[in-house]
Amino acid sequence: MIPKPPDRSVLEQEQFLKILSREEALARFEAALFPRALPCQTRKLADALGKALAEDITAPIDVPPFDRSNVDGFAVRAADLAAAGEGAAVRLALNGETIHCGTAPALQVAAGTATPIATGGPLPRGADAVVMVEHTQPAGSDAIEVRRATSPGQFVSYAGSDIACGEALLRAGTIIGSREIGMLAACGIAEVKVARKPLVAVISTGDELVQPGGALPPAAIYDTNGAIVAAAIDENGGEAVFLGAIPDDEARLEAAMRGALADADMLVLSGGTSKGAGDLSHRIIGRLGEPGIIAHGVALKPGKPLCLAVCDGKPVVILPGFPTSAMFTFHDMIVPVLRKLAGLPPRSDAKVSATVPVRIASELGRTEFVMVSLVEGRHRLIAYPSGKGSGAITSFAQADGFLRIDALADQMPAGTETEVTLFTPHVRVPDLVIIGSHCTGLDLVTAGLAHVGLAVRSIAVGSLGGLAAAKRGECDLAPIHLFDDKSETYNSPYLVEGLELVPGWRRMQGIVFRKGDQRFEGLDAREAVAAALKDPACIMVNRNQGAGTRILIDRLLGGARPEGYWNQPRSHNAVAAAVAQHRADWGMTIAPVAHAAGLGFIPLAEEHYDFALVTARKDRPAVRAFLDALRSDEARAALQQAGFRPA
Ligand code: AMP
Ligand code: MG
Repeated sequence: MIPKPPDRSVLEQEQFLKILSREEALARFEAALFPRALPCQTRKLADALGKALAEDITAPIDVPPFDRSNVDGFAVRAADLAAAGEGAAVRLALNGETIHCGTAPALQVAAGTATPIATGGPLPRGADAVVMVEHTQPAGSDAIEVRRATSPGQFVSYAGSDIACGEALLRAGTIIGSREIGMLAACGIAEVKVARKPLVAVISTGDELVQPGGALPPAAIYDTNGAIVAAAIDENGGEAVFLGAIPDDEARLEAAMRGALADADMLVLSGGTSKGAGDLSHRIIGRLGEPGIIAHGVALKPGKPLCLAVCDGKPVVILPGFPTSAMFTFHDMIVPVLRKLAGLPPRSDAKVSATVPVRIASELGRTEFVMVSLVEGRHRLIAYPSGKGSGAITSFAQADGFLRIDALADQMPAGTETEVTLFTPHVRVPDLVIIGSHCTGLDLVTAGLAHVGLAVRSIAVGSLGGLAAAKRGECDLAPIHLFDDKSETYNSPYLVEGLELVPGWRRMQGIVFRKGDQRFEGLDAREAVAAALKDPACIMVNRNQGAGTRILIDRLLGGARPEGYWNQPRSHNAVAAAVAQHRADWGMTIAPVAHAAGLGFIPLAEEHYDFALVTARKDRPAVRAFLDALRSDEARAALQQAGFRPA
């Protein structure tokens, strides 16, 4: 008998006895770790690149160390040339020395004299300016003529004018780059005290994890967190040592964690943070050192299962398993601590203000991070929330940044102007914005645009969402495939003033099944569904309400609700995966997806995938380039090759 599951609220209470707010958790974590001495090392300049300075550096000398000529010319007394002009040449007698770089002057520049001096040469006693050689004429072998007045200080860099002795040269926490090395070298500093990068051990946990490069057995996934976390540690001043993925085995995990802590300054694990059976790392932490767990359960979304601990002075962190949750919690909660351990100042993120076009629901009581894509609306930036769940890793790559919804808010209303923290230092406003239903065929059309340097942003929000965005003028094109029951036509009945239809391509919808399944081989779509309904062991996979495909399925089923009907994934690919992996025996998808998955396909009806073009944006160069690409022979051939039928 399957045991009765415990009441959900009780389960949640057991799992996270004490959920802390983000601020409280961070404060406790920092209090358990700081203050502490920063481990330092002295490094020769040549080996200091990329390291963080451990102390402020004061300039030990003036740079330049002496008053220096900026040009090749003659060191003079400006007062001698006060009357010089085009029609009034002043003659100066040359002193008996030439000052090259590195030559200390021996003779004084007396009134009426000049000393030849090279760029970088020290100004001799008595001189207060330099006249460029181009502005002089030789007058015999021992004199020059000058026809231009000069002022004291002309072409002279005074001692300490670049760097003054005693001036703060560089601050602790500065990352040493080539410019910093230049400043240190100019002051004659050969060695600097730098922070030793904290060595951070990284362990992924989970029986299901395979390292990238390995083959993926059924039910396994690639270890994403290991790579992300190690890179993010290196980006924030640490030195990551990735120790691989450890299966959910208490003894092996404990051995790995002990080994890691013996060598490293910090340990970051991911996965296994919920207190359910099989989640072990938090139990092991209790045995690794004092004081142990500081916070387990933080009011963050995504990221509630975050676990923060300190074991004998070393921070130990367990990030949530879902990569996006792991990323957010790492950047929000771990980076501040890591940077302090590394002797770096807090990270300064670039932020912009943007308006959210749709209401975003949020869970009360948890600080929520929402990834957004930025597009240019009418006179303002628009922040589109990325619709994917906490398991989605692509949302990170496609998003420009994220916004934060306060723990005390249960939503962010449409039209809210909010702050967006950017993932990159600058906003990248795309040249072409496509919002609506996504299709792999779209990538074939836009590929060429990217190659000629046009930035294309495509945001998948479904046909209706795209249409709404087009009406608000937030995109150039909205790809749609909306069937109108009344007129029995696609797309055109949905257009309003200001939008025009650009024909895209046709996608053949049909029944997918595993090749060789005798229930379906050789039948047409109606016969196949009839056969499926006759066999009680046959399981289907449906589509979500509102999908064009769903309308076709419901028509075919004529009111029947066979096994699998309530399994309603949101994409063509998920349908194909369910059939390919034997979770279902049949479903409906588009021909290219069925063929790519190696499945059998019975064609039923063609769906029209077209574009609602915002007329006001028609003449933008990127829109024209898109329309040209759409009609090009290359794109048409590529679409055909992939199984689409260009209109
Ligand atoms: P857990 O916290 O271990 O229960 O994991 C939660 C979810 O995150 C599961 O779907 C895991 O398969 C997934 N997950 C855990 N660790 C990783 C990882 N290193 N890379 C990708 N996904 C992971
Ligand atoms: Mg796990």
